[in-house]
Parts: sequence; structure tokens; C-alpha cells
Amino acid sequence: MNVVIIGAGLVGITTAYALHKVGVGVVVVERREGPGLETSFGNAALQHPSMVEPWNSPGVGWDLLKWLGRDDAPMLLHLAQVPKLAGWGLRFLANSRPARFEANLLKNLRLALLSRREMTALSEDTRVAYACRKTGTLALARSAQALAAAEAHAAFIAPHGIAHRKLSRDETVALEPALAPIASAITGAVYYPEDERGDPHAFSTELTNWLTARGVTFLFETDVTAFKTDGKRVRAIDTAAGPIEADAFVLAAGSLSPALAAPLKLKLPVKPAKGYSATISAKGNPHLPKTPVSDAAMHVAVVPIGDDRLRVAGTAEFAGFDASVRQARVDNLLKLLGKVYPAFAASVAAKDFSAWAGFRPMSADGVPTISATKFENLFLNTGHGHIGWTTCAGSARLLADLMLKRVPAVAAGDYSLQRF
Ligand SMILES: Cc1cc2nc3c(=O)[nH]c(=O)nc-3n(C[C@H](O)[C@H](O)[C@H](O)COP(=O)(O)OP(=O)(O)OC[C@H]3O[C@@H](n4cnc5c(N)ncnc54)[C@H](O)[C@@H]3O)c2cc1C
Repeated sequence: MNVVIIGAGLVGITTAYALHKVGVGVVVVERREGPGLETSFGNAALQHPSMVEPWNSPGVGWDLLKWLGRDDAPMLLHLAQVPKLAGWGLRFLANSRPARFEANLLKNLRLALLSRREMTALSEDTRVAYACRKTGTLALARSAQALAAAEAHAAFIAPHGIAHRKLSRDETVALEPALAPIASAITGAVYYPEDERGDPHAFSTELTNWLTARGVTFLFETDVTAFKTDGKRVRAIDTAAGPIEADAFVLAAGSLSPALAAPLKLKLPVKPAKGYSATISAKGNPHLPKTPVSDAAMHVAVVPIGDDRLRVAGTAEFAGFDASVRQARVDNLLKLLGKVYPAFAASVAAKDFSAWAGFRPMSADGVPTISATKFENLFLNTGHGHIGWTTCAGSARLLADLMLKRVPAVAAGDYSLQRF
């Protein structure tokens, strides 16, 4: 069998790996000049099965209203976008009902745990180097109420296979001494020892090189413009360089997937949720922390990458496909960094920062779509929102199960397009 995958982000590349490993011939078609240059480039670098709850948590509707027009909002809705979000937005809100939110959280959790196993196997098989460190994640709480919420979340996911430790203020600082300057602001934390961190762009590049050396073809700077169909099958994709035929096709184009699927009358409820990150070079900096921190009060994740960089990421903006990197949002991230690691923030200069923005492919229910379609040889692997690095290897495994008609490793219906 020969398969064409559209998109060389984390999801497309891991799908290429999963299919290559079972003897499928794979061609990956990517419009950019290399792998992992869109959303997969500058994400927060965390593989965090501990924190895969959808963003449409109960109360999200009020939060969005409260934050309207604020540059420091964790989730900013631009009023001009409201008409474009209409149908998707109603589904987004409907899925914030407590029972649905919990069900969707557990779907993501099962996929993330599958992904952890698949990623371990992939790493052992390929030995790709991506500065992977299993240093866990600290979910920091700055009030008794926040600590109670963090502990309730940990207790909810514990029976499903996520280990945690509750930490007092002193234990938190003992685990991550770089937090000492803000010790008085910390109430406590929940520590998730199994979470990992790693450079997603290094991973994309290394895995692409590994696959290329083994016969997988990557066509870069090749924009897919349409699918050519023949009744119930896709025959080919159209590109500027001409059509490309295959036995089967996988759409893994992140936030741009809905636009490619729409002419086939496939409705994908996925919208771009813009996010920012700033990466800071910190070679030899004695203040560089070792443990990723998620700070609920600040709505920010601060994550060391390897031993010489720190990435601060957070916030979502519903701004369509406006790719501009707005200084006010970057300044806000750096301000938040100063509230988590003041000593580190004071020790770095503007020349050490590089700011970035990307579009999370956000599903209306916060769960990825890994699915067959009404076309018997067209499959979807998209809509990974804020958890695509955490779930890509598991999504790839599930998609390969579907394509090869194997017993799926997790309940396939949970991720099917038909759930919408
Ligand atoms: C600020 C931020 C922080 C994040 N932090 C984390 C984190 O810590 N942990 C985590 O798990 N996730 C995180 N995420 C989410 C994660 O980065 C995404 O879920 C993931 O990158 C999505 O991967 P993808 O392959 O689906 O999409 P992409 O990386 O966008 O890849 C899709 C590819 O398809 C290509 N493409 C699109 N259209 C076409 C076309 N017509 N023809 C050819 N090619 C096409 C694009 O060029 C692109 O390369 C974060 C995201 C953001 C923005």
C-alpha cells in the first residue's frame, strides 16, 4: 500500500513513522520548506498526560466574556471573530458542561497514555535526539482554593494511571530551588513525575531524517490545493507540481485541515487558537530551572528545554489566521515569567529572547479527530489543539490501526468524525 500524508507537523511525521513501520510506502507532502515549522515548532515542549483537560472547562463562557479585549487575557476572543466562530462556538460551549468535559478529558487521557507508550517505543527504535528529559511537571498553586482544585484534578485522573505527589510549599521549593524567590506566594503544588519535556522541532527534524534514510519521501514546498475524487474514493491530490496518486490519503494539516476537507463536504469543527511562546537562551545561566512549571494563576507554562534554554508559553487568542506576533502579548508572557522566576527573568537580556506564535488546531470538544471518512481511502488525523505533542504518537498508532483494520489500541469511536 502507498499512502500520501498531507502535513509534516508532529502529527503527520509520527503518522509516517507508524505506517512506515508496518511496511506501508509513505509520501509526506508539506507546503513549508522543512518539517515541523508551523504549530509544532515553538510549542511549550511538554508531554503532559497529567494536563490534557480540554480548554472548554465548565465556566469557560463567563471567562471569555470577562476577558474580552484584555491584552493579558489567558483566552482572548476578538469580537470580529464571533460570526466566524458561530457553529463551532456553540459546540465549544456545549462541551463545557461538566459531564461532557470529564468524558472528553478521559478520552484525551487514554490517548496521551497510549502516546507515552508509543513514544517510548519510537525513541528506543530510532534513537532520535530531541533533548528529552523526564523531569515531571509541577502544577503550582498560589491559594488554598487553587491547591484544592489542583489536588481534585490529580485525584480524578489518578485511577486512570497518572501518578502524582502533593507537595507543601517547602517541598515545592526543595524540588525546584529556582522557585525560592517566590516561596511566600506559593501555597503548594501537585507534582506529576512521569511527564516529559523535549524539543518538538528537534524531534520533527530528526525523525524526518531517520525516515528519509529509510525510504520515506518528503516533498517540501509543495502546497496541496485539492483532492480529486472518484465516487467513494480519493484518487489523487492536486499540487502546483501536478497531481499525486496513492492508495490512501491522510489529512494531517493542523489548523488548515478544515479548508482542505470542506470541498469534499467533510465538516471538521476545528478552529485556530493562536498561542505565543518566547524561547530564551540560557547557556550557563545558574538561575535556569530544571522542572517545568504550570502556573494556573498566571495561565502560563515555563519549561526548560535541554540544559540551555527556557520556553515560556501560554494564552490563546481567537484571531482567525492572523499570524502577527503582537508585542503586547509577548510582553505579557515575559511579565508572567518574571512572576514565576524573577531571578531568572532579571538575569537575561532582550537579545536572548525569540518570540513565536502558532495556531493550535482546536476541536470544538477539545478532543482530536483520528478517523476514517465517507471516502473509503481518506483518513483524518487532526484537531489536536493544545495537546498535539503529548498525543501525536498515540494518534499515529490509532490511525495506523484504523487504516490497517487492526483492533484499535483505544476506543476508536471516541475520536471519530462521526461524534460531531
Ligand atoms: C503556544 C503553544 C504551546 C503549546 N504547547 C504544547 C505542549 O506543551 N504540549 C503539547 O502537547 N502540545 C502543545 N501545543 C499544541 C501542539 O503544538 C499542536 O497540537 C501540534 O503542534 C499540532 O500538530 P499538527 O501536526 O497537527 O499541526 P502543524 O504542526 O500545524 O502541522 C500541520 C502541517 O500541515 C502543513 N499544511 C497545512 N496545509 C497544507 C497544504 N495545503 N499543503 C501542504 N501542507 C500543508 C502545514 O504547513 C504544517 O506544517 C502548543 C501549541 C501552542 C501554539
